[in-house]
Amino acid sequence: MDEVDVVLLNPPFFRFCGSHNNRLPPSLSYLSAYLEAAGISHALYNADYTESKRFWSMKWMFDNFDPFIDAVDGKGSLYGEVVEIVQSFRPKAVVIMGGEPLIATKDWGNPFIAAHYARMLRRMNVFTVGLSHFFTLDRSKFEDAFDCIMGGEPNAQIVDIIRKRVPGYVSPQPLDLNVVPNLKRQFPTDQDTDFVMTSFGCRFPCSFCLVQQLYRELDQRVRFVETDTVMRDLQQRSESEIYLTDLTFTFAPPKRLRELADALGARGIQKSFTVEARVDCLTERTADLLTELNVRCVKLGVEGITKDLLRAFNKRTKLAQIERAVGLLKERGIAVVTYLLIGGVTSEEDYELTRSYIEKLAPDFVPVAIWSYDLTTDYRYDTQFSPTRLNAWGIDRSVYFKYMDLQSEMNPTVGKMLDYVS
Ligand code: SF4
Repeated sequence: MDEVDVVLLNPPFFRFCGSHNNRLPPSLSYLSAYLEAAGISHALYNADYTESKRFWSMKWMFDNFDPFIDAVDGKGSLYGEVVEIVQSFRPKAVVIMGGEPLIATKDWGNPFIAAHYARMLRRMNVFTVGLSHFFTLDRSKFEDAFDCIMGGEPNAQIVDIIRKRVPGYVSPQPLDLNVVPNLKRQFPTDQDTDFVMTSFGCRFPCSFCLVQQLYRELDQRVRFVETDTVMRDLQQRSESEIYLTDLTFTFAPPKRLRELADALGARGIQKSFTVEARVDCLTERTADLLTELNVRCVKLGVEGITKDLLRAFNKRTKLAQIERAVGLLKERGIAVVTYLLIGGVTSEEDYELTRSYIEKLAPDFVPVAIWSYDLTTDYRYDTQFSPTRLNAWGIDRSVYFKYMDLQSEMNPTVGKMLDYVS
């Protein structure tokens, strides 16, 4: 372990819940690219990593949630362990992520846990920088914990922040569209590097999603990464199956999808892809282009099917669009994953209707999330699998468990799940 000037730290999140997340955090890999170009020595430490190849299910973590509550309250041996490892690099500065700002839809970190790490490191005279959509959207709660907060997306200002020890809140600047994430400084060294982004942002108005709040605050439209940069990024990845984690990949106009398909062909890049889509952003033409791009799986934000659920989620989609989107994909042999959301509506009938509808639709997997992170409430213990949040909604846990019964033992995003009978 070499000494470095900066550690880019992804604190434990799933590890506090008994599981893990081995994916290299995209935002930190972009910051790593800026530091590398500036000649600043650094390590990207994903403290949520373990060597395990199996995963606890969300249901198991829901059932065993107390250690996470302790972690948010600042308790747990992982605080000591992780700081000991960070300090082994003898850094002068640590950038601490409290949730992945580029993919704020994903449960990737907790801002209160990140703040505890910052306080510990500051007591050891380390300069700390916070990065998270929570720190941008709910700044007053966290600004005392860090020396500096980088607002918005990860961006080029990190170099000045580190060199000049810039204090306080640094106003957001967009991430450049010609930066290839740096994969070379990862610790541990064998993290999964299959998350690639070809665009940033989303301006749909889904009420449950922090992305719409973040990009409204940043006042940014969807921005597309330069095609050559996307290709260079894909070429550096060892994985043959890539998850393009754009917030809505099919928001891209057909011309852009065509350009990506042509560029893949011209460079001989033979990878397959999973993408995220909305049911109202899928036409026959788009579906054909997905086939040309070698997209093998599409994850659709269905969330719920009744009028009340769709209204509460402000999804602005219709049942007929769900059926059409799933049909277009199945006809082309593309696997379909349908996200479901619990919260906002307490009538069990809405969930039962959704459950039986999805059962008939027969998607390949059904990720289930509890509507979390209403920043106007006490969201400290929120995760997308929090029993505390489900209780706050007043929804019986049997509703959640019935949704979870729609899942198979293999989660195509994280991998094989452990068998467990409670
Ligand atoms: S489409 Fe809706 S759920 Fe998806 S990222 Fe955009 S705002 Fe969030």
